[in-house]
Amino acid sequence: MLRGGVAPVEPAAVFHPTSDRDIAQLIRAAYQQGFPAVSARGHGHSINGQANTAGGVVIEMSRLAEGHADGIAEEMRYVDAWGGELWIDVLRACLEHGLAPRSWTDYLYLSVGGTLSNAGISGQAFNHGPQISNVHELDVVTGKGEMVKCSEEENQELFHAVLGGLGQFGIITRARIAVEPAPQRVRWIRVLYSNFSTFTRDQEHLISLHGDGRNKFDYVEGFVIVDEGLINNWRSSFFSPRNPVKISSLGTDGGVLYCLEVTKNYRESTADTVDQVKKNVLSPNFELLVHDNLAS
Ligand SMILES: Cc1cc2nc3c(=O)[nH]c(=O)nc-3n(C[C@H](O)[C@H](O)[C@H](O)COP(=O)(O)OP(=O)(O)OC[C@H]3O[C@@H](n4cnc5c(N)ncnc54)[C@H](O)[C@@H]3O)c2cc1C
Repeated sequence: MLRGGVAPVEPAAVFHPTSDRDIAQLIRAAYQQGFPAVSARGHGHSINGQANTAGGVVIEMSRLAEGHADGIAEEMRYVDAWGGELWIDVLRACLEHGLAPRSWTDYLYLSVGGTLSNAGISGQAFNHGPQISNVHELDVVTGKGEMVKCSEEENQELFHAVLGGLGQFGIITRARIAVEPAPQRVRWIRVLYSNFSTFTRDQEHLISLHGDGRNKFDYVEGFVIVDEGLINNWRSSFFSPRNPVKISSLGTDGGVLYCLEVTKNYRESTADTVDQVKKNVLSPNFELLVHDNLAS
């Protein structure tokens, strides 16, 4: 039973596979014998019970004993991850090799198969595309229980159907994910607005910038904050006591504020270029620079 109360649905059974072969066997049997629906569950964070199935079988992808993000090819710039792997674990495995996936979600306790069945969007998407645009290859168990490898070059139709396919075209058991060198340091800047038009104008300007990286940011994301919620907002850690926000100086627009969050990756040796990018790109367009932190 799903306990959130939003989609109170009960499956007939929950299946814990130990390999992709187990999944293929289950689906083959379901297909041949006319079982009820089968649904993959990553971390169960989709908000309307999409990973569940009434009276069917839920395949619990996250508990595979042997699955790890361990097929890392540094020279080829990819990592092979089990479909039920959490992105936080993919990141940890990559960091051991000085690498990181190119495209992210903000929240990392989501599964590879779960976000690749949607899109996987975060502040890098304007640069690299969503997560589904950063996959080289997939292993998929189809609705007939076949185990199929697919990519741009091989079984292309299945590849594009499964990516963003809401779990309707097959179960992702392995994804070959594009990685890049992990940044050594990151400059993290927040810009706060009271005017929606200025906020969207600046955001569109930032994501439209092209070039070799010297004149653009690596991450751009905008969000809306209820003014009075700044203190209790889940992002309130952004506004630390060391850098207090002067709300009174903003002249709020119906109790709502808008925030642009941007980052610039750099190495110790190129630290001075960050200030140059900030100067070139942010000034003098931007209304109010609230925060400018260094994060390693
Ligand atoms: C706190 C929070 C923050 C979030 N932040 C972001 C964000 O920054 N960016 C973003 O893009 N999204 C975000 N999301 C949404 C999230 O990407 C989706 O809800 C995603 O589906 C959740 O992944 P999951 O592993 O929990 O998937 P589940 O909820 O378990 O499954 C989602 C769907 O994918 C299917 N599925 C799961 N695993 C597989 C598989 N291996 N093969 C095929 N189909 C599969 C399921 O059947 C279901 O239809 C957020 C969600 C939450 C709760």
